[in-house]
Order: sequence, then structure tokens, then C-alpha cells
Amino acid sequence: MDNENRKTRIICIGAGASGLFFALNCADEEHEVILLDSNSKAGRKMYISGKGRCNITNDCDTREFIKNVIRNPKFLYGAINRFKPSDTIEFFNEHGCPLKTERGNRVFPVSDKSSDIIDCLVRECKRKKVDIQFDRKITKIEKKDDQFIVFSKDKKYIADKLVIATGGKSYSSTGSTGDGYRFGKQFGHSVTELKSALCPIRVREKITYDMLKMTLKNVSLTAKNDHFKKTIFGDMEFLKGSITGPIVLSMSSLINREEDVELSLDFKPALDEEKLDKRLLREIQNSPNKDVGYLLKSLLPSQIIEFFIENTDTDPDLPLNSLTKEKRQQLLHDLKSFHLTYLSLEDIDKGIVTSGGIDVNEVDPKTMESKLCENLYFIGEVIDVDALTGGFNLQTALSTGYSCAQAIKNED
Ligand SMILES: Cc1cc2nc3c(=O)[nH]c(=O)nc-3n(C[C@H](O)[C@H](O)[C@H](O)COP(=O)(O)OP(=O)(O)OC[C@H]3O[C@@H](n4cnc5c(N)ncnc54)[C@H](O)[C@@H]3O)c2cc1C
Repeated sequence: MDNENRKTRIICIGAGASGLFFALNCADEEHEVILLDSNSKAGRKMYISGKGRCNITNDCDTREFIKNVIRNPKFLYGAINRFKPSDTIEFFNEHGCPLKTERGNRVFPVSDKSSDIIDCLVRECKRKKVDIQFDRKITKIEKKDDQFIVFSKDKKYIADKLVIATGGKSYSSTGSTGDGYRFGKQFGHSVTELKSALCPIRVREKITYDMLKMTLKNVSLTAKNDHFKKTIFGDMEFLKGSITGPIVLSMSSLINREEDVELSLDFKPALDEEKLDKRLLREIQNSPNKDVGYLLKSLLPSQIIEFFIENTDTDPDLPLNSLTKEKRQQLLHDLKSFHLTYLSLEDIDKGIVTSGGIDVNEVDPKTMESKLCENLYFIGEVIDVDALTGGFNLQTALSTGYSCAQAIKNED
């Protein structure tokens, strides 16, 4: 084949969500796509996503979507508009992997198996003749003249265009070890400070054994410092030395760049102070000869009572008829603003996503091409974008992968 008719050869490093979706959208008669991954299988992180069910997207419009993006929502606006959650739903439904929508517009495969999502993407890649090669950890990249030379341990690849789809730095056992940041720096890119996101929060208070097995439902968690205050309502869980669950994961993403954070928990967010006080008075009047421990049983789940007593000045043996107004006010305060001592976020490796990454100011939001190095592209979590839970992160991977594929195809 002479040079005129030669296919454009594109190497994509990373066969995760963004790499697979890029490849199947880009490969055609004029574009040869080689997808390289260090693992022996595609989509290792997707496999464990959504507790093995893969919450692939969130069935909402672009505006709602963008509200759930924490870092650089503006950068993502175009990509999400180009390939919307509704396009994702259509794609999987039409390619043999039917989807269903659950609470909070979260979309999952009907089978509840993340492997069905991965199989669907790999099947489409194969149909489009994408050359997927596993056990190829890329260690070095060089650029000579107009071409990229990509090295694995014992192989060398040459490409006209290079797409970095190496993911973030969390759950590194899935293959995302942060190599993309190193590759980006090599081509002059800035990498913004990496932080844990969607991760547990370490607290000083000792979590009791009973709490490890429970979900604390319908509470609200507040985090604040002298210029920041956020409250999130929902469910919470506990680990040894840390708090977790939906509201905590979301909160971690909001506070990961804040200092001197104070945490407090409202056990009774549905009742304002006045209503809760009335309820306390009613309980006291109904059972004056019982004690405070008895009262707590009507207010809190049993597994949390010991923890509550341990970390407040509450005397469980105090008879209710001896509870002074001051003591009642104190109890009310502890129920509405229970203090948790913030220690730190869990390590990056334990975060569902990585906050920070390739600086968006150096990437074209329309094409995902580097503004510093022609024919170099970044897609997915390696870029400094992250969102809350609910399917927003995988949709980001798909939309950035799609935008990049369209840009490359339209360019030639
Ligand atoms: C436990 C968990 C649950 C999650 N659940 C959800 C969910 O339900 N919904 C949601 O929207 N998001 C979820 N996420 C987040 C989501 O999975 C990621 O944001 C998404 O997978 C990012 O896609 P990506 O293509 O950018 O990176 P990845 O999917 O991480 O893929 C990167 C790929 O690059 C490869 N790679 C890296 N370096 C090299 C190298 N040097 N050479 C060759 N290959 C390399 C890796 O092996 C990997 O296969 C979850 C994450 C975790 C950890």
C-alpha cells in the first residue's frame, strides 16, 4: 500500500471504559486502532464497578449531569452533549446488552452483570477489527518526527496518533497505576495535585463492632471550615477507623482540597430542634421513671447507642424525671450535631476515582487532543475531571472516548 492510501495508525494505551469505547468508535477502513493493556483482560475496573453490576450511566440531561461533576464541569460540557447518557442507553440496548434504570436514574445492565457490559464493548471492538493486545504494559514513549514509538517490555509499536486512556491512580490492582500522568508530563503537560475522591473518611472516634454491620439510614453529614459548609442527606456505613457509604463518599470528593474540616452528624434531620425537643418532652412525660438509655432506644438504632454514649456526655442511667432542661438541650444538640473528629481521607488507592490529573487547560475539550503536542490525546479518568457516584464517571469515560474518536475521524 502506498503512503497515500495507508491507514492512519492509532495506538490507544488502556483497554478500560474510555479506551474500549474510543477504539470501537474510531476503527474503520481508514483508521487502524491498536489497543494495548497491561492486564490479561479488558475493563478490569469496570468489572468491579457498581459492586459488580456496573452503573454504566445516569439517565439525566446534560445540565443535570454537569451538576454532578466535581472537577472542571465546563470542560466536560461539550463531550457529554456530543455523547449523552441517552446515547449510552441506546448503544447498549442496540448491541445486545439491555439496560434498566433504577433509583436516582442509575442505569445498570438488566443482567446485573458488569461482565455483560465489558463483553459488549469487546465484541464491538472485535467486529470493528480493533487489534486488542493484552499483557502489554507500556513503559516508554518516544516521539520521532511525526510518529510516536511506544515500548512495552519486549515490543515496540509505531503510530501516527497516540491516545492515553490509562485511567486514574486508585484501585491500582485493576491496572490504573498512574502511568498516564508520567506520559503526560513527558510531553510537557501539567498534572494537577492528585487527591482521593469518593473514598472513606478516617475519624478519631472508635467504631464499635456492632456498627460495622449496619447502615445508618436517613441521616445528614455536615462538613465545614471557615469558608465552606456542605450538608449531605442519606445513608452512611462504618469501617474500622473510618466512615463510608453514599453520603460519605460524596462528601470526600467535596472536601478533598479543604483544610481544617469539622464534621458533624444529624441523626434526626427530618425534625428541626423545636420538633425534636417536643418529642423528647413527650417521651419524658410518657415514661418519667425510665432512664436516658431507654429514651435513646426510641431515637437511635440499637447498634449506634453505645457509640453515641461513649462520645458524648450522656449518662444512660439518669432517670428521665431528673433530666434538667440544660441536660435535655445538650442531648438535643448531640442528636442534631454529633461531633466526628476528621482525621483525613483514605489513601488514593481506596478511592472510587482519582481527583486531579492532566490539566484541562492543556487539552482541547472538543477533540481531547493535547494543546502542547500534536496527535496526542487524553481520554477518561487520566484527565482532571471527576464526578459523584451514580454512573457519571463511566459516562465521562465513554463521552471523552467518543469525542476523541469523532475528532480523529473528522480530521482525516
Ligand atoms: C470499586 C469501583 C467502583 C466503581 N463503580 C462505578 C460505577 O458503578 N459507575 C461509574 O460511573 N463509575 C464507577 N467507578 C469509576 C469508573 O470505573 C472509572 O472512572 C472508569 O473505569 C475510568 O475509565 P478509564 O478508561 O479512564 O480508566 P480504567 O477503566 O481504569 O482503564 C485504564 C486502563 O489502562 C490500563 N493501563 C494503565 N497504565 C497502563 C500502561 N502503562 N500500559 C498499558 N495499559 C495501562 C489499565 O490496565 C486499565 O485497563 C468505579 C470505580 C471503582 C474503583
